[in-house]
Amino acid sequence: MRVLIADDTVLMRAMLSEQVASYGHEVILARDGREALDRAWSEPFDIAIIDWEMPHLSGLEVCWHLRADPRSAYAYLILMTAHDDAFYEFKALDAGADDFIHKPVNSAHLKARLKAGGRIAAMQQQLLDQARTDPLTGLANRRSVLERAEEEIARSRRYGHPLSVVMADIDHFKRINDTYGHAAGDEALKRFARALHEDLRPCDLVGRYGGEEFVVLLPETGIADAPMVAERLRARVAALPVEQDGVRFHMTASFGVAAVDGIGVDGIGGDGAAPGPGPAGGRGIEAALTEADAALYRAKEAGRNRVVVAG
Ligand SMILES: [Mg+2]
Repeated sequence: MRVLIADDTVLMRAMLSEQVASYGHEVILARDGREALDRAWSEPFDIAIIDWEMPHLSGLEVCWHLRADPRSAYAYLILMTAHDDAFYEFKALDAGADDFIHKPVNSAHLKARLKAGGRIAAMQQQLLDQARTDPLTGLANRRSVLERAEEEIARSRRYGHPLSVVMADIDHFKRINDTYGHAAGDEALKRFARALHEDLRPCDLVGRYGGEEFVVLLPETGIADAPMVAERLRARVAALPVEQDGVRFHMTASFGVAAVDGIGVDGIGGDGAAPGPGPAGGRGIEAALTEADAALYRAKEAGRNRVVVAG
């Protein structure tokens, strides 16, 4: 586990970090409340051990901030104080702490608390992963794709880099289900997802948008290059056999491609490229997806198994 330790005394930090590291955990150190928040939001952690009495921000305030922020809302927080009074314990739990330990810290006690906290943190992580994943294909689900797409858009605007989106839809999917059965339909979806996953770069964002529709976000890729990526995917999918219960068949898919924000329309990213309309005039992922979807519709109209570029 990654354990954030926030304490303003050198001795306490040294002692806690040595103990926590000796249990096999990775330690992230912070010297006060403000640094604790900075570290917490820049480096993911599983459990935080936070001293109550610290300059700038108290441990109690750190707990409030961590709970209120989506980046750390589900972390396991242990507040620590020398005060041996039930009042402090109530206040700690009320501020959002999951647990409370007294100073001086008993090492066996700390070890047990970390173990219990680790169980909760792991379960939270598992639930979060499940909520973001499409169970059939293992790809990001619609909600997760939209969330991560907004992050990618913000990044591309910040650096003036191009970003494109591809909507893909398996052709005549209902016919696959009707002809070969629903297990074969599921297998086709899984095979399709795997093809996307294998063909694309790790930085590309791939998700199941719903039904037999998939979405691919291509960072650093302008509208001049994105259709080539889509064409490669199209050819790969068309060549892939799907096998289910000894039956073998082929599928095709149609693709709609659109630029996000019109950034890098000429396909030139970074240096020299105009950084698009900027945050104020920029549009969200929804507008780009609507364009890509319209292009996808035209690909279907034109006979399927093809790539159409928006506009
Ligand atoms: Mg202190």
